[in-house]
Amino acid sequence: MPSYPDLQHYIGGRWTRGVDGWQVLNPADESVIGTVPLATRADLDDALAAAADGFRIWSRTSPAKRAAIMLKAAALMRERIEDIAYAITLEHGKPIAQARLEVIRGCEFFEWDAAEGQRTYGRVIPSEPGIKYVVLHRPIGAVAAFSPWNFPMSQPARKIGGALAAGCSIILKASEETPAGAIHIARAFHDAGLPPGVLNLVFGVPSEVSEYLIPQDPIRLVAFTGSTAVGKLLTGMAARHMKPVLMELGGHAPVIVCDDVDPVAAATMSATRKARNAGQVCTSPTRFFVHETLYDAFVAAFVEKARAVTVGNGFDPSTQMGPLANGRRIEAMETLVADARAKGARVRAGGERLGKSGYFYPLTVLTELPDDARVMREEPFGPLALINPVSSLDDAIEKANALPHGLAAYAFTHSAHNADRLVEGVEAGNLSINTLEASIAETPFGGVKESGLGREGGAEGILNYTIVKNVSHRMI
Ligand code: NAD
Repeated sequence: MPSYPDLQHYIGGRWTRGVDGWQVLNPADESVIGTVPLATRADLDDALAAAADGFRIWSRTSPAKRAAIMLKAAALMRERIEDIAYAITLEHGKPIAQARLEVIRGCEFFEWDAAEGQRTYGRVIPSEPGIKYVVLHRPIGAVAAFSPWNFPMSQPARKIGGALAAGCSIILKASEETPAGAIHIARAFHDAGLPPGVLNLVFGVPSEVSEYLIPQDPIRLVAFTGSTAVGKLLTGMAARHMKPVLMELGGHAPVIVCDDVDPVAAATMSATRKARNAGQVCTSPTRFFVHETLYDAFVAAFVEKARAVTVGNGFDPSTQMGPLANGRRIEAMETLVADARAKGARVRAGGERLGKSGYFYPLTVLTELPDDARVMREEPFGPLALINPVSSLDDAIEKANALPHGLAAYAFTHSAHNADRLVEGVEAGNLSINTLEASIAETPFGGVKESGLGREGGAEGILNYTIVKNVSHRMI
């Protein structure tokens, strides 16, 4: 039987208990499953010193050796999949099958980054005889990274993978609410022989940790995934110290359903995807703009599928959607649904909290939403699907682009002409047509407008963790 890990900091290659901090809750029954330590200034100073040492060692380690250690760590995580998935479901609530998929996804990030770290080619610029101009991508330095609670293992994997593959060291402040995924990653890297100080893991009061770490000298990049509001705060702090940022922020993904598709198939696929991680995904399909000729059929099929989604404890094999990860999400769903109702939206499925213990909320379908409903502008980050009719593709694209967000966008169409208009017209870092997968390890992921800066994954992702150095060398 797997057990929940002991929650500790990992600094300079050693596990340290630190000062006991906040309780970690099981969102399925609100019971206490652990206590996460909170970093003191002394812990953060140790982590900074360790990251500076780690950078000296790791940046001078050959890319092939770095890749070998990363691949070994990923292999260990694959071996430990049941332990890691158990911890994720216990602390986050998602169905155990989804937790296993998250572990595999996290390993894929490490494996892709490990390989890509060996391909950060520079270039040689043609020049007159006797002089060479060489452009190099060098590791940027120690990274201060902050990962959120919605994917306890794959979110930290994104940041650790990119940093380590590029030759950087990292101090990761992982989520205090879902700390176990990052603990398992640190264990695997420790066991794989990662030199001390290359990966440091801390927990703490988020604002105190970011305010202390970001200005410090060894930190050369700030990487964050979370809300746009916090992203702006950290970007401002980094800018004051002239440090670059990698920001993966909020989304409010539009889904445009054109008049040439099967509405039932599109709705069924969309409802299934909406239930993933109980909608707590920055790329979750949320604002559906459906051509008016298909609208009724699409809504009927979506509602039928939404009502059939089994909500329950993530360890129950029949569960398709677990509880929300914390009480704040329940409050947010209740507030947004009440506001939409009051402004005239129709609640076609769900709309009420389930049970009194645990943070259970059903897949909820709202239709005929007025533009001034808060949920049409604020990212729900939960299991709410908003469906409105549109009269044309231009109308849909205009509505899709109406918000300051631009992370993921989706469309259903078989027309090459429509697809071309969508590619040209939709403002988003990731557009997926006839699929609701927004990113895989091989593709660059990130936002435009207020959804972020920089890309994670793909050949582009690793470049955030590098600086360009031009060398001019005259051979006399
Ligand atoms: P929040 O904005 O307070 O926190 C989001 C994340 O940022 C958390 O992991 C938190 O620990 C961290 N954080 C908060 N303040 C920080 C600071 N000053 N310095 C460093 N880290 C800080 O809100 P929340 O209630 O946890 O989540 C609500 C919203 O956050 C959601 O509605 C969603 O928009 C966004 N969110 C986005 C993602 C994502 O994948 N993009 C993930 C989680 C949350």
